[in-house]
Amino acid sequence: MTDALTRMELVLHLRRRGITDVRVLNAFERVPREMFVSADFADNAYGDTALPIACGQTISQPFIVAYMTEKLGPDSSRAVLEIGTGSGYQTAILAHVFREVFTLEYHEPLLRAAEARFKALGLTNITALLGDGWQGWPDGGECERIIVTAAAPEVPAPLFAQLAEGGRMIIPLESEDGQFLTEVFKEGGKARHTRLLPVQFVPLLRASPSST
Ligand code: SAH
Repeated sequence: MTDALTRMELVLHLRRRGITDVRVLNAFERVPREMFVSADFADNAYGDTALPIACGQTISQPFIVAYMTEKLGPDSSRAVLEIGTGSGYQTAILAHVFREVFTLEYHEPLLRAAEARFKALGLTNITALLGDGWQGWPDGGECERIIVTAAAPEVPAPLFAQLAEGGRMIIPLESEDGQFLTEVFKEGGKARHTRLLPVQFVPLLRASPSST
């Protein structure tokens, strides 16, 4: 019960911060964030902050997870491609508002831990793979929605190629004046960028997949 109450408090907080999409708020009611953080931080699971996870990575701040999900445009008839599974929390939220989620992670220990959480929660519409987001989804077709949860200096070209015409990508981009969450639309094969919010994501790593 305590968990459910604190989860409700987080949902109320997200509403106060301007998240209005009921599908997104419902997803936050249903996903137990304490399952995605390490035991050391379980007491803080419903605070609106990023927390450290294994492999030097972080679980994103709930408001940012909610904001990115809302900006993607929840749609139970569409699939979404996520780069950077991490703890799998964002993935689990996406699984409640999209038909199917494809998620790519660079660190194998994080991927395996996230997969175990999806299984424990009975989330069957997620396909998780070890891979490099700079290369896009292996032999993946086009996707109308793409979310990247690590920061890059530019949109990885193979990933933009995988974005369907009329599709939408939400990605943190580095620039001279800082890091900004950016909405990228594909129109006539070209990218149209809109800056949304200043953010602080860990970098999108560039080497080949590793298990360390
Ligand atoms: N949404 C996740 C955020 C994790 S942080 C959560 O809330 O838990 C970003 C994640 O991106 C990390 O897990 C990191 O290992 C992963 N990552 C970094 N570079 C990557 C790359 N090139 N390809 C795939 N995943 C990458």
